[in-house]
Amino acid sequence: MTRRKQTFTVGWLYPDLMNIYGDRGNILTLLKRAEWRDYDARLVELGRGTTQHMEDVDVFFFGGGQDREQALVYEDLLEHKQHPLERAVQAGAAVLAVCGGYQLLGHYYQTAEGERFPGIGLIDVRTEAGKKRFIGDVVVDTQIEDITPGTLVGFENHSGRTFLGPNASALGRVRLGFGNNGSDGTEGYLQGGVLGTYLHGSLLPKNPHLADYLIRSALRRRGVDELSPLDDSVELAAHARILERAPHAAHGRHASPALLQRPSHAPLESRPRSRADAPPPDQP
Ligand code: GLN
Repeated sequence: MTRRKQTFTVGWLYPDLMNIYGDRGNILTLLKRAEWRDYDARLVELGRGTTQHMEDVDVFFFGGGQDREQALVYEDLLEHKQHPLERAVQAGAAVLAVCGGYQLLGHYYQTAEGERFPGIGLIDVRTEAGKKRFIGDVVVDTQIEDITPGTLVGFENHSGRTFLGPNASALGRVRLGFGNNGSDGTEGYLQGGVLGTYLHGSLLPKNPHLADYLIRSALRRRGVDELSPLDDSVELAAHARILERAPHAAHGRHASPALLQRPSHAPLESRPRSRADAPPPDQP
């Protein structure tokens, strides 16, 4: 008799509105990595109004969105999602929230024009937008102890400056990029299985160790502490490529385009041909 597979459910908040800069890749990564561990991986889409099956969700994903989209979802979040989400997190579900989603899990997000969208206060952070957008590659040294590598890589594009409250801890410190606010060197938010971050890209395909951290966090309530290893050589090669481009940058300032284009140390001929080495496009 075939053993019935355990289900693993990903809940996608506002897939139609909060989904930019490849955020969908995080959903695919979570589902695939659960499937490769022999779980019956399922996706529940949680658009405006509906809260069905939120109690079955193992990992919630809340993607990014421009101010316009955040204005369209924050009332629904307060009215329909806040309490089921709080219950689910208390029951051990994990959450990954990126950029605009991260901001609305906090106390509020205030636009550059001064309009304030109240958040659900699930996490102790507040966000106020500035005039200058923070855009570019990001490298973070993470505070999560038991994951390897200890770095996260991604891409940021936000006007919001997020400040951690006394009950909040950071996901990590930026080695390259602006992170939470471009001034205190922190990036993201981390409390157990609840993660907030400004890293788009999408995040999880180039950070499989973080995907497994979320899956493990959600499965802990089923007594699962370890996941069977997967061959992440391709994912980690992509991760390492971003790290190579970032060695000399200090947080808040970006590496010069030349530095981002080509690794600084290794002599040209020892590396696979990169964009910078491509012959110049046909002159007119
Ligand atoms: N609108 C928010 C900001 O500008 C979030 C942007 C995003 O999700 N990329 O900060």
